[in-house]
Amino acid sequence: MAIPDVIVYFGPLEFAAVVLGIVLATAVALIFRHRARNVAALRRLLDGFPYPAMLFRRSRLALKNVNSVDLEESRELMTVVSESWRKGEKVVRTVPAVEGQSYQVRAIPLTSEETLLLLEDLAAAQRQQAFYRNFIQNVSHELKTPLTVIQGHAAKIGDAPSDREGWIASIRIISEEAKRLTQLVDNLLTLARLESPSFHLDLAPTNLGALLEESILQMSELAEKRQIAISLNLASGLPRVQADQARLKQVVLNLLDNALKYTPPGGEVTVNLKADPEAKRLVCSIHDTGEGIPEEDLPYIFDKLYRARRAKGRPVEGSGLGLTIVQQIIRAHGGEIEAQSELGAGSTFTFKLPHG
Ligand code: ADP
Repeated sequence: MAIPDVIVYFGPLEFAAVVLGIVLATAVALIFRHRARNVAALRRLLDGFPYPAMLFRRSRLALKNVNSVDLEESRELMTVVSESWRKGEKVVRTVPAVEGQSYQVRAIPLTSEETLLLLEDLAAAQRQQAFYRNFIQNVSHELKTPLTVIQGHAAKIGDAPSDREGWIASIRIISEEAKRLTQLVDNLLTLARLESPSFHLDLAPTNLGALLEESILQMSELAEKRQIAISLNLASGLPRVQADQARLKQVVLNLLDNALKYTPPGGEVTVNLKADPEAKRLVCSIHDTGEGIPEEDLPYIFDKLYRARRAKGRPVEGSGLGLTIVQQIIRAHGGEIEAQSELGAGSTFTFKLPHG
């Protein structure tokens, strides 16, 4: 019988040592996994801030979010972190220029070791404030104009109760202006809803071709009245899109309404729908042979309350909110919209929606 060179004795002591080793290794692995999870959670938290955010352990940078990748840990920032860490309390300072921008810096102690540093871009905050001031001014102006007209005509009716013809004309104007006001307020409410954090789409598989047919049918009476022909070209075998049908209908009706509004009698509106199989998108374009949009106005037509200057012709009613609503709905569907136009020749609005 062959006798082994080394005899390993495996008694209770060795067994206990192996078990202890396994327990220790598992504990270390668990601690590392816990740390890694914590770091991932912290990174997600930091990335959720719309402005630069950094996490310091003692006075060393541990993590920074995507918005602060270009930011250096400047001396000014470090002073705020150290002060907060030393005092164990929140410190807020305005740092005049970090990378050429002014920031309001907030250092918040999270634990005895960790400090969160948030940097709010003051210029961006001021720009946003100016934007809203401007927006409220524009809305007030849009509301005031019809209200002044209504007041004027109501007074006219009161001043000359026997002028029957004047009466009828004033009532017609009051009713039109009231309609304009209602439309403006409806659009403002829609926009507020689209921009609210609780906004969501009611998605369902949607046959966009059928939705276009329905919308064109809905607009056919108006098109006839304006003597404009609408035609539809549908590619065959198109896939369905996941869409909020009521919202998407609003998009198509808005674009068709604009095409009819800004096209003189005798013009044509053509709607095309096809697939872009490579990009997995449906592409819908609404083309009109109307007055077109001046080149200098084209970049702004999707902005709130923006209306392009019209060279000639009758005044056209509108609030300048339609295209903003259209763009927000298309973007909420993960799509995009663009406009091409040639003054005097017509405009094409093209939106693309992802499918499957
Ligand atoms: P509005 O209520 O004024 O029509 P929109 O937001 O729908 O507001 O459109 C913004 C502006 O874009 C319009 O005032 C108009 O100047 C221009 N526009 C939009 N669609 C067309 C079009 N099909 N043809 C020419 N101009 C258009």
